[in-house]
Amino acid sequence: MDNQRGKGLSFARRIYTPRAIGSGFGGLALIPFLYPLDIPIWTWALLLVNAFIWPHLAYQLSTRSAYPYKAERRNILVDSLGGGFWAASIQFNPLLTVIIISMMMMHNVAAGGPKLLLRGALAQVIGALVSCLLFGASFNAHTSNLQVYACLPVLILYPFSVGMVSYGLAIKLAEHKSTLRALSRTDSLTGLLNHGSWKDLLQLKFQKCQQNQSTATLALIDIDHFKHINDTFGHLVGDSVLCQLSTELQQNLRIEDLAGRYGGDEFCVILPNRSLSQAKEIMERVSQVFCDFRHAAEPELRVSLSVGLASYRIEYEDASAWLNEADKALYIAKKTGRNKICTGAADLLFDSAPIDPLST
Ligand code: GH3
Ligand code: MG
Repeated sequence: MDNQRGKGLSFARRIYTPRAIGSGFGGLALIPFLYPLDIPIWTWALLLVNAFIWPHLAYQLSTRSAYPYKAERRNILVDSLGGGFWAASIQFNPLLTVIIISMMMMHNVAAGGPKLLLRGALAQVIGALVSCLLFGASFNAHTSNLQVYACLPVLILYPFSVGMVSYGLAIKLAEHKSTLRALSRTDSLTGLLNHGSWKDLLQLKFQKCQQNQSTATLALIDIDHFKHINDTFGHLVGDSVLCQLSTELQQNLRIEDLAGRYGGDEFCVILPNRSLSQAKEIMERVSQVFCDFRHAAEPELRVSLSVGLASYRIEYEDASAWLNEADKALYIAKKTGRNKICTGAADLLFDSAPIDPLST
């Protein structure tokens, strides 16, 4: 409901300036057309209200309404009713009538598409009929120079204001699109790449390694006994451990290293142009810093990591084979006691010395 109201309010705010410009300058353009017609005084009062008071009243009505969107659509129909009324009142002078119709079309189609365009057209016809009933129906094709000049400001300013509103909307849309794209690529808890976007990048890096014969190393990282951490200290502490690892990855990796959350307590990193031994050094540093982590509210908490490494090899048929090798290495690290860094069978096999979480 609040969201609907918010959308309705921004709709009303968007329409406010074009309506104020269209009604104000449209009202001024009407004066030299109405003046020679000897219309009753109340018509001048109506013009004053429609041109200069209505846009502000319409804004107040829609923004104060519980349903601003509905109220604004009703206001738009009042605009159209007024447009039809004034077109008939100036005896359908072709110049200003066409300007009024095109303004109404722009206004209605921009606000509510073909449906509102049709309803607006109907409201214009009703407005014109009311005027014909009051003043009689007639047609006057003559346009003086003064009348032409009076039409120029609205002719220039109204499309300009509608264009500016469309431009503002396009910019907002582009911003929302890029925010959504970033959100769809990011893990909401850790801020790292999510599973899907990391795997897309792995695919790209694999192709790059194939094309350029370059080096890169994959690291699959898993927090040891994470379920036990959750069970003992609670999920919030578990979440803070996940965030801690993400922070340490971001602090200890280069910009070009691509860290993601593979899922649950498993993280993944692509280290471009890093050999196995260089990647091992980096992961040892991350593991050590992570082991040193102490939770302020839970001083008993100890954490450690198991890491599986696999360097790119020309024999891999696809990125999955490469990832599979890192996964096997992680499995070895888990099976052989955790808190260690292992490589897959395809790479030169080595195990790091365990990092003792209690050593600090
Ligand atoms: P191992 O040492 O073999 O890795 O064991 P483990 O307990 O770390 O691994 P396991 O896969 O059994 O448990 C992972 C747990 O992570 C299970 C799941 O409830 C928990 N988990 C997954 N996602 C989240 C999360 O976003 N926040 C928290 N707090 N826990 C999570
Ligand atoms: Mg785990």
